Amino acid sequence: MDNGNGGDHRPGRVLVVGGTHGNERNGLWLLDQWRQHPGQLHRHGLALELVVGNPVAAQANRRYVDRDLNRSFRAELLSDPDNQELEVLRARQLLARHGPAGNKPCLVAIDLHSTTAAMGNSLVLYNRRPASLALAAVLQRRLGLPIYLHESDSCQSGYLGACWPCALVIEVGPVAQGLVNGRICQQSQIAVETALDALAQAREGPFALGSALLVHGHLRSMDLPRHGDGSPAGLVHPSLQDRDWRPLGAGDPLFLAGDGTTTAFSPENGDGSGTLWPVFINEAAYGEKGIALSLTRREMVPVAAGWAPSLTELARRLERDPP
Ligand SMILES: [Zn+2]
Repeated sequence: MDNGNGGDHRPGRVLVVGGTHGNERNGLWLLDQWRQHPGQLHRHGLALELVVGNPVAAQANRRYVDRDLNRSFRAELLSDPDNQELEVLRARQLLARHGPAGNKPCLVAIDLHSTTAAMGNSLVLYNRRPASLALAAVLQRRLGLPIYLHESDSCQSGYLGACWPCALVIEVGPVAQGLVNGRICQQSQIAVETALDALAQAREGPFALGSALLVHGHLRSMDLPRHGDGSPAGLVHPSLQDRDWRPLGAGDPLFLAGDGTTTAFSPENGDGSGTLWPVFINEAAYGEKGIALSLTRREMVPVAAGWAPSLTELARRLERDPP
């Protein structure tokens, strides 16, 4: 696994993945359309690999079969010869085919996801690799996309995007699992084309990225209140539902119990400081993970001098779309 921008300086393509979660149908729909009607995706001259992340789960319209593919790119799983779970096999296969050192190497990974939470069109980053930050900065400047930086949670790791030198998750919602929604598809496509445009532009040379990137850094996740037997003792409070990316302060309602009792947010739920910003509120897929919402801190990350050159170095190794 390549841990940075250096690699072996081989050329490579842009990997566009849909259906990493098999019941997120919008990315799958787009991949199908782009394969059948290549002219419907503006590639900006770049060669792409359009890949279904988890074809078996997609066929079954399930998030996954044995384990979440987007938590399976962990070194200890990938290197364990006894582990033959479907998603671990698939993660190894994707890396062998399209990893930075794969047979048909890809240098950039764009992973299309959808969420049942009211996140709108947003980006998820798993680390602070300069090329990823640069690409995210372009999408934030051009499309105003909020960024969830999920880099520090020992309970949650093994993301596909963490394995490529430059990676973006495009996360769009709200949309039900299993449902294709034209607006979600449009928003996803705009983000993909803007990213490809930025990569094509970066080939020409480093360009201005602004002075700072606004990120929402993951702090921690919160579960619903639960009874002793593990069953939910409350639900996400109606006044919190759909308020992703909105400030949450002391006294704001979090959960509503069956007896009408409200659990309010207190600074101790977070980092002891003031306002936090919740994301993935009541995401359907996270119930099994014991996550009712995740709390983030807002942070202005100054654009470093190395980001744009790093993106340019990578973009100049990208293969051109065959005419
Ligand atoms: Zn997903």
